[in-house]
Amino acid sequence: MAMENPFEGKEVWFGVGSQDLYGEEALRQVAQQTGEIVDALNATGKIPVKVVLKPTLKSSDGVKAFMTEASANPNVIGVITWCHTFSPAKMWIRGLEVLTKPLLQLATQHHKEIPWETIDMDFMNLNQAAHGDREFGYMVSRLGIPRKIVVGHYTDPEVAEKVGTWARACAGWNASQNMKVMRWGDNMRNVAVTEGDKTEAERVFGASINTWAVNELVAAYDKVKDDQVKALIEDYKAKYDVAPELLDSRYDELFIAAKEECAMVNMMRENGCTAGVDNFEDLGALPQLPGVGPQRFPSEYGWGFSAEGDWKTAVLVRIGAVMGYGLEGGASLMEDYSYNFTAGNELDMGSHMLEVSPSIGTIAKPKLDIYPLGIGGKSDPVRLVFSGKPGDAVVVSMADERERFRLLMDEVSIVEPQGSLKNLPCARAVWKPKPDLKTAVQCWIAAGGSHHTCMTTSVGREAWEDFARIAGVELAVIDENTTARQFEKELQLSEMYHRLNNRH
Ligand code: MN
Repeated sequence: MAMENPFEGKEVWFGVGSQDLYGEEALRQVAQQTGEIVDALNATGKIPVKVVLKPTLKSSDGVKAFMTEASANPNVIGVITWCHTFSPAKMWIRGLEVLTKPLLQLATQHHKEIPWETIDMDFMNLNQAAHGDREFGYMVSRLGIPRKIVVGHYTDPEVAEKVGTWARACAGWNASQNMKVMRWGDNMRNVAVTEGDKTEAERVFGASINTWAVNELVAAYDKVKDDQVKALIEDYKAKYDVAPELLDSRYDELFIAAKEECAMVNMMRENGCTAGVDNFEDLGALPQLPGVGPQRFPSEYGWGFSAEGDWKTAVLVRIGAVMGYGLEGGASLMEDYSYNFTAGNELDMGSHMLEVSPSIGTIAKPKLDIYPLGIGGKSDPVRLVFSGKPGDAVVVSMADERERFRLLMDEVSIVEPQGSLKNLPCARAVWKPKPDLKTAVQCWIAAGGSHHTCMTTSVGREAWEDFARIAGVELAVIDENTTARQFEKELQLSEMYHRLNNRH
């Protein structure tokens, strides 16, 4: 069980702008030096997909053909542009207008330093990125096309980092565009923030969110072969600290839990889904509320999962899992549960009944255990119990604001729990929100953020910012510099902006 590599076979195309004015020799040098830049970026290992240099762009027809091809090719997840020489931006209009892939404008140079003693007009003619990139940038801004701008010499490690983070966001966007979400059951009754417009979500994020009858899951459960269940139990034994009674007097219940995971996984695979959501109020004849299975969706399959019919967080967890592929940490459903208001040690504890994933990293080997659950009217669910590993993380929520979706993020630091939590039979993480608990909570509530979030420990703020820019969706950020007063103003301005800007 390993997550499918979302970067496999994917490419980012690099288009270098110039024009015919400079003659053959200059254009030869443009192509050759840009090749050096692209090779150097690929060699850093910081960019998870291959950057592919395409022939130098010298005309409006050439740009249009390049952008059309990039937009149509399913393996191309983004386009990088750079203007080595001057590239009159009228020639970019028709191409930019047909581009449907994420765009990154790289403002770089072949030379790192001005050659003070040798610089002459020939050198200046060839190396004009400082104003070539401005001319190109003018057109992208004029057309109102969202793009990431990365500035710096191509050997600067920060440049490759930023391009790499953007490429991860492009992969997240690609995953979102191709996502099918399997809903077992509808929204938990009367909950507001987890409701929303699934048709609009498909238009904005590309994710197709549909319902499968719970009876189909029950039928899939009945069809699971014992061998598949037994293999899964072996996997549990290899990865988790399994409670002895689950391998002895309560083995039947472990078997049921594993069989439910098999049924869910089989249905997901048969239908090509990459995110799932259930609802404990609607499980039909399923014997247990699924616990360990959904917890393993992100960690074992790279799939999104959320509970209580919350397809929005399931979508975010899948995007987070893809963006963070290959990095330490991962993505999981999280839910704010309890505050520690001790002065100077203010903390937030997140958890869920069952579904928090060990993909975020754990302090110790997760314990696979069984405890009663007071709600749902099913037999005791088998679940993984652990505490999230200390480190940097973000929590991201998606809420439906009537005329648009709002993403909201808080940057947090996961810390060690301050006590044993020995009576808490579920997975959890304890964190210090930025800038501080009171400000973070005040801002979160003011923005109408959800109680359910996607926590990512693999990728942070920049990847989500890049993703939101690509998606054309608001991302309100609470960070170390946030004040409640300024944040309230930001929300007001943002609301006006999104009402006036109807591009998305
Ligand atoms: Mn919940």
